[in-house]
Amino acid sequence: MDFALQPPPVPAVAVSAGGSFPVRRIFCVARNYAEHAREMGSDPVREPPFFFTKPADAVVASGALLPFPSRTANLHHEVELVVAIGRGGADIPAGQVDGGHIFGYAVGIDLTRRDLQAAAKAKGQPWDMAKGFDRSAPVGPISPLSRAGVMTRGRIELRVNGEVRQSGDIADMIWHIPEIVQELSAFVALAAGDLIFTGTPAGVGPVVRGDRLEARIEGLDPLTVSFA
Ligand code: MN
Repeated sequence: MDFALQPPPVPAVAVSAGGSFPVRRIFCVARNYAEHAREMGSDPVREPPFFFTKPADAVVASGALLPFPSRTANLHHEVELVVAIGRGGADIPAGQVDGGHIFGYAVGIDLTRRDLQAAAKAKGQPWDMAKGFDRSAPVGPISPLSRAGVMTRGRIELRVNGEVRQSGDIADMIWHIPEIVQELSAFVALAAGDLIFTGTPAGVGPVVRGDRLEARIEGLDPLTVSFA
């Protein structure tokens, strides 16, 4: 094809069995654990989970040393289970979500400029610059479904400089993975290559220059990133 510019490289995440997973889009679920919704000042019963996005090229591999993001004095960590979509579709009923739709799972961190998010919320403005900035989506190696099995429970944890800050269980999601796929695929047709960040448990907090973040979910490869 006669492109006017050199096409950008395809963003990708390593697969633990070898090779890499090409990232098409990144969708994220907000307020998907009740205790986190409460710590953010929301009522998880009256305000159900909802979606936002990050650019595909916001992905960062485990082991990265990241520059501290611009325009924030309150960068927060949010450890999340990431679902890699292997087969898409529109209006997928939760009961029909199967191993064919899910390529695999990884540990992710939804980095958030919390100060910009709070200002956006107060003014009814979009969250894009709070959530979708450069290098805002560290993702560890993807474990294929054949290795990880269908994940419905497991410890999820984040440490900053070795100290546990977030600890929960993915069984405590408000919307579980089949419901997330059903809801999201009613808004957009999902496609192979999409990543879904499924929300964070309680304990989110600030990250400062020099911090080392270690994120773990039982059964998956860990994710580590550091800030210069
Ligand atoms: Mn999040």
